[in-house]
Amino acid sequence: MADSKKVENVIIIGGGPAGYTAALYTARANLEPLVFEGFHWGGQLQNTTDVENYPGYPDGIMGPEMMSQFRAQAERFGTRFVTDDVDRVELSDGGVQKVFLGEEEHRAKTVILAMGAEPKRLGVPGEMELGGRGVSTCGVCDGAFFKGQKVIVVGGGDSAMEDSIFISKYASELMIVNRRDEFRASKIMFDRAREKENITLKTPFVAEEFVAGEDGKLVKIRLRNAETGEREEIETSGAFVAIGHTPKSEIVAGQVDTDEDGYVVTEPGSTRTNLAGVLASGDVVDHTYRQAVTAAGSGCMGALDAEWYLRDSPPPVEAHWMPGGEPVEIVPTS
Ligand code: NAP
Repeated sequence: MADSKKVENVIIIGGGPAGYTAALYTARANLEPLVFEGFHWGGQLQNTTDVENYPGYPDGIMGPEMMSQFRAQAERFGTRFVTDDVDRVELSDGGVQKVFLGEEEHRAKTVILAMGAEPKRLGVPGEMELGGRGVSTCGVCDGAFFKGQKVIVVGGGDSAMEDSIFISKYASELMIVNRRDEFRASKIMFDRAREKENITLKTPFVAEEFVAGEDGKLVKIRLRNAETGEREEIETSGAFVAIGHTPKSEIVAGQVDTDEDGYVVTEPGSTRTNLAGVLASGDVVDHTYRQAVTAAGSGCMGALDAEWYLRDSPPPVEAHWMPGGEPVEIVPTS
């Protein structure tokens, strides 16, 4: 599928709404995109149940099914997929962009970065050790395992509210632990969570430690009052950390401009980065909206920016040659 001797028109890194939409648009523009969609393709929607806010699905759709449809639509127009995680990239300002799977090198005239974001961690003892043994970052994935049990959700944003509303269908009691008395969540999500009879709020508290029982599974969480410093322990068999996300920009860090939070910086109103031929779309650039529909829109912008770049920029001389001097195929873009 992927010929490492060819210089592709466009390589897309990411298999979420942004990556697949960029693939759809570039495939329909006959640019024959190559998508490195990741081993866990589908992005964050792979961990989501009902999606009710994506236009065009009046009855809602399940997240994984929606991602399968995005993928199939891109495939219909000739997108090629590599279902693996990119190990590293060598980005160039207007030259050949290089993407590596191990030692295997793939080259392109443009690259669209659409790696998305991942859940943030508290960084406290027990959090990682008890992953899969009571501590989770994905309510919709793991909530059903806690039927009839007492559960804690840490966080005060919309993610925490969404997770809590979902998990409260299964848990007997659910306590939302937030480090401030004020909640960052939108009013509608906060009100929905508060309406649930089995949800209570615990503020202003921070989680200090997740503690395992003799069987190695979570049995309690240690909390500290953020104002008084007073400590207490809450018995619980499930804890969900829902405190936001970090952009998945490690592979491009230091090569393309990123901000202090690691989001790739793009020119306002476009997906262009500081490097010619390197575009960035979706949650890896988006502090604010982080919705499937905004990611998809941003993927469309990335595709159009790539198409316009290819139209307006002659291929670099080095694009015609492999390092050993062997000529490589340059695919016409019109
Ligand atoms: P967020 O809005 O950044 O909220 C993160 C929450 O976690 C805040 O309450 C924050 O507290 C807390 N937090 C962060 N680090 C913490 C730490 N180390 N210890 C304890 N608490 C910590 O993230 P989000 O909830 O993932 O939402 C992100 C975006 O996606 C938002 O724009 C949101 O509206 C959107 N979203 C929408 C929906 C929906 O509409 N269905 C669902 C999910 C997300 P502070 O407030 O004190 O900083």
